[in-house]
Amino acid sequence: MEKTLPKSIFQRFRQQQRGRTSLDRATADAIAHAVRVWAMDHGATHYTHWFQPQTDTTAEKHDSFLNLKTSIVNGVESTVAIDSFSGSQLLQAEPDASSFPHGSIRSTFEARGYTVWDTTSPLFIQDGPHGTSVLYIPCVFISYNGEALDEKTVLLRSNEAISKAAVRLLHMIGDTEVRHVHTSLGVEQEFFLIDRGLYSLRPDLKICGRTLVGSVPPKHQQLDDHYFGQIPSRVLATIAETEMELYKLGVPMKTRHNEVAPAQFEMAPIFEESSVAVDHNLLTMQVLHRVAHRHKLKCLFHEKPFKGVNGSGKHCNWSVCTDAGENLLDPSVKPESNPRFLLFFIATVYAVYKHGTLLRAGIATSSNEHRLGANEAPPGIISVFLGDQLDEVLNAVEEQRELKSFSQHQIQSVKVGGTVLDLKVATLPPISRDLTDRNRTSPFAFTGNKFEFRAVGSKQSPSFPVTLLNAAVTEALLEITSVLEEVKGDKPKASLEDVLTVVRMFIKKSKPIRFEGDNYSQEWIEEAARRGIENITSCPEVFKKLLEHQKLLTETVPILTMAELHCRYQVMVERYVKDLVIEGNTLKTMINQYVLPAAFDYRKEVASTLVSLNNLGMDINDIPEKKVLDEIGNATTELVKLENKLCDTLEKIVTINDLEQAAVVAHDEIFNLAEKIRIFTDDIESKVATKWWLLPKYSELLFQL
Ligand code: ADP
Ligand code: MG
Repeated sequence: MEKTLPKSIFQRFRQQQRGRTSLDRATADAIAHAVRVWAMDHGATHYTHWFQPQTDTTAEKHDSFLNLKTSIVNGVESTVAIDSFSGSQLLQAEPDASSFPHGSIRSTFEARGYTVWDTTSPLFIQDGPHGTSVLYIPCVFISYNGEALDEKTVLLRSNEAISKAAVRLLHMIGDTEVRHVHTSLGVEQEFFLIDRGLYSLRPDLKICGRTLVGSVPPKHQQLDDHYFGQIPSRVLATIAETEMELYKLGVPMKTRHNEVAPAQFEMAPIFEESSVAVDHNLLTMQVLHRVAHRHKLKCLFHEKPFKGVNGSGKHCNWSVCTDAGENLLDPSVKPESNPRFLLFFIATVYAVYKHGTLLRAGIATSSNEHRLGANEAPPGIISVFLGDQLDEVLNAVEEQRELKSFSQHQIQSVKVGGTVLDLKVATLPPISRDLTDRNRTSPFAFTGNKFEFRAVGSKQSPSFPVTLLNAAVTEALLEITSVLEEVKGDKPKASLEDVLTVVRMFIKKSKPIRFEGDNYSQEWIEEAARRGIENITSCPEVFKKLLEHQKLLTETVPILTMAELHCRYQVMVERYVKDLVIEGNTLKTMINQYVLPAAFDYRKEVASTLVSLNNLGMDINDIPEKKVLDEIGNATTELVKLENKLCDTLEKIVTINDLEQAAVVAHDEIFNLAEKIRIFTDDIESKVATKWWLLPKYSELLFQL
């Protein structure tokens, strides 16, 4: 824009971007003209307002630049086709909002919705068919009355809130040159890639994104031989091509590797400002999905596509950064006497302490429910891991003593702040050790110079979890600031001693949320209960936590109106019920069209063998076929009973008008029935001859790359 726009227009745009002015008509028109020329030079024929309804994905409606211009020349009317794109078309559009999830907002207000250009996120162009391209305009999506209908509006609000609170606190400790801070976000995306031909034979994967039946093969991830292994060539081709497409869209992809489960992989970009990082994560998922298709692969973003092996997460690496590019969560050389670090660090820990259940609510979905608390994923209990050294730093500050195990000398000997390890091999250089070790079991871990929120689901948009985290930390900053203000008294700025006094108070308050041990263990579940940290496992219960934090979200850090909060809640609950009803119906169909017919066919075959053998005079009670027949018979009898129950529940649930009640039925009955049913379908799968089993098995799905 700087290259193509007149200087004065560009400056006005920059001011608007920083929130200082709004765009006037003439400036908007000038920008729109430059944007159209740029886009058409790159083959664009269409433009679209690109936004993020509450569906965990994005929405777009394309319009061409085509316009018809009619004029009368010498009394003759003539019409010509022209390209046009006005400032108002760039700034705002009005898609029909009625078919997006809207909670109760639409019944209270009008169905009209507006998309408005989010000037903080870069425009981009994506290739379309036949050499045409489309100009994408990142937007927010709001209702007729200005209520947020999307994920982005609230994220932007939370970013502004945290910036204001952080700047105030920084000014109080003398960092007066900071005018703005932003939250940074680096999203690690995990996913499965499987053969598309096999995928297309699995109705459960196609409809629900996960397998509803299927038994675990003898070998899967036990040997840890897939993790960080050589990337299979078809997958490498897919990922490399995805990265190339993403680079063109401005997404800075950085890392790729095999994950723990067979057929599971991860890609991660370099972190960016959080709202841009969210846009880029959503784009990454879309491009990956598209490119995988070209390589005859299917990308599964579901948190638990395969029972019994690792699920997928979306690790959200999060920090706070000043306008001068300084990371406020960087412990630097002497964390114990770095007031900025200590304040922001303890604010985050305290935020999780106060609003852990809110963070839990932001990651609750029907699909993540299968992953959280399962063996290889963080549990539903939200705690914070700091690592040995920072744990010690907080303890030392709290107890007003010198740091124990980590001497100043050791720390200062490595510039980035680590200790030196001697490897006792002369040819290897000494290496520096990070300030924190890793604890993969923690849902929320400090990892060197940022926090990593690991419990976020792979399929969901990172937007809402980050929004809630921003809001919680903002409140903590506000609380810390007001205490510091008192402690400081009428001095112009708070001293290190003042800061330490305040930090000490918040270290004490937030202590129960800190946990350095194994989050997967039974002991932790018991210990958490003793500490009063909630372990909520049912989604309908977790959703309610969103409403319990109403004061934070609508008053203290008002990023949502009451109507918007209830809208979110309703969308979550409704989505949960729909997901489970869809899964229930898919399971029903699969039992009747695949599992039972296979069992019956096989039984018929075995039975006719038995008849023949009986005719030959053999004692059929004493041969293996008889045992098979009995086992299949028993399993099918049980399965049919459960299937009947499932059908009854599915019929009942559609008659329940109260959404919350429907969610409880969905959880208590459909979810639990499906788990029970699986015991029998998987048993039948393991017994029926493969020739009767039409569904690709785990051994094929996970090992055909
Ligand atoms: P690991 O798998 O070891 O946790 P990765 O390298 O896969 O780490 O991902 C780490 C992510 O954290 C990357 O996206 C990286 O850009 C991001 N990150 C690094 N520093 C920051 C920061 N200050 N704020 C936000 N994200 C960060
Ligand atoms: Mg990782």
